[in-house]
Amino acid sequence: MTFSHHLDKAAVVTQVPGPKSLELLKEQDRTESEAVVYSKNTPIAIKRAQGALIEDMDGNVFIDFLTGAGVMCLGHGHPAVVQAAASQLQALSHALDFPTPVKQTFKESVLSILPPSMQENMRIHFCGPTGADAVEAAIKISRIHTGRHNILSFHGAYHGSTQMAMAITGNLAPKHDLPAAAQSVHFFPFPYCYRCPLGLDSSSCETNCYRYLEQTLKDSHSGITRPAAVIIEPVQGEGGSIPGDRKFFQELRRLTTELDIPLVVDEIQTGLGRTGTWFGFEHYGIEPDMIICSKALSGIGQPLALLIYNKKYKWKKGAHIGTFRGNQIAMAAGIETIAVMKREQVLENVRQSSAVTLSTLKEQLAHVAAVGDVRGFGLMIGIEIIDKESRQPCGGTAREIQQRCLSNGLLVELGGRSDSVVRLLPPLNISPELLREALSILCLAILQSTGSCQ
Ligand code: PMP
Repeated sequence: MTFSHHLDKAAVVTQVPGPKSLELLKEQDRTESEAVVYSKNTPIAIKRAQGALIEDMDGNVFIDFLTGAGVMCLGHGHPAVVQAAASQLQALSHALDFPTPVKQTFKESVLSILPPSMQENMRIHFCGPTGADAVEAAIKISRIHTGRHNILSFHGAYHGSTQMAMAITGNLAPKHDLPAAAQSVHFFPFPYCYRCPLGLDSSSCETNCYRYLEQTLKDSHSGITRPAAVIIEPVQGEGGSIPGDRKFFQELRRLTTELDIPLVVDEIQTGLGRTGTWFGFEHYGIEPDMIICSKALSGIGQPLALLIYNKKYKWKKGAHIGTFRGNQIAMAAGIETIAVMKREQVLENVRQSSAVTLSTLKEQLAHVAAVGDVRGFGLMIGIEIIDKESRQPCGGTAREIQQRCLSNGLLVELGGRSDSVVRLLPPLNISPELLREALSILCLAILQSTGSCQ
């Protein structure tokens, strides 16, 4: 299919969903699994997408602040990345785990964006195509290395949908029907200082969380044997765009080194520049033992998942494999994505756009009682919506805001407790004009929301 005109701004011309979208949504209900989620919250069927804009079947154009759950880091169809992928498609598209020149260059590109002090010490394990498989790989190699079994995770964490990744995820809802998917994991409080998880004064939130963790791991009567790994997101994504705390992460690094526990950072959402640095952990001045990365790696949604791990950990031949680890198209696109990000100074754009977004939201929403907190690193930003009286998370109003945004041409995601956090994940190369337009749609939606927390 070819398209005659360029998408350049948001424009909603029908009710959303419009009639053509509705038809495909109904067919989806009839023919697809009940587990579908995104099109339930954002009821559109998509015709095409370009840059930061998505067009639905009825000709409505939306600014995309969902970006395929953080996948489309350079927006949709970046020409240089598409070109790289298209050329690779003709040359070689799948190669299991055979070495290829494109794979070699891709590995070098990925290692080149690690902090210099880590580049020599890390190796890359290609995983099955989904982020959750890289989570599985990290847990597996940690257990093999340490001979221990327990995994330590955090309240509010999200790590994926396989049974082990779900086991280390905080959200209880999907676990109710799967009691077995909750074994051998201990959860500790994440320094979510807007709502101190220990119910204490939030001014000392990060030290409280850390002290509790250290005391427990060193207590011979805590009931928790030493874990095989600590796994943590540098900024919690699905948990509600909650940045970590520098002191907390530094203490966590010190403690895990002291107790010889592999520290695994899940950079599936934060990786590749989302937070304004190549990786989220860089904000804290720490060096993890393992990094899990996927979503944005190819820049065009071609699946690819990596475990980047310190050489001191060793796999045996065939210990974690899978058919789809050799996606050459994703790798060729990934090389170009990293090159574009360097060439076009995309990280600088992330930092500038982040500053504009945070200051605009804080200024314009300062007196809105339903806005509890505005937070984030880089372009991973969350607005926590609360009940005016109780100050508890308010999913009803957040949903209303999401629908108002949709009706006016902006796609946003929800996350956090009760889905009360409006989450912004724009393309990292968003233009100042589209950013301004999106923020004005968003602020208006929040100002116009009526605030029912049902
Ligand atoms: N970890 C984090 C931090 C994520 O955000 C996600 C996806 N939202 C995953 C793991 C799981 O990745 P995937 O859906 O590709 O399996």
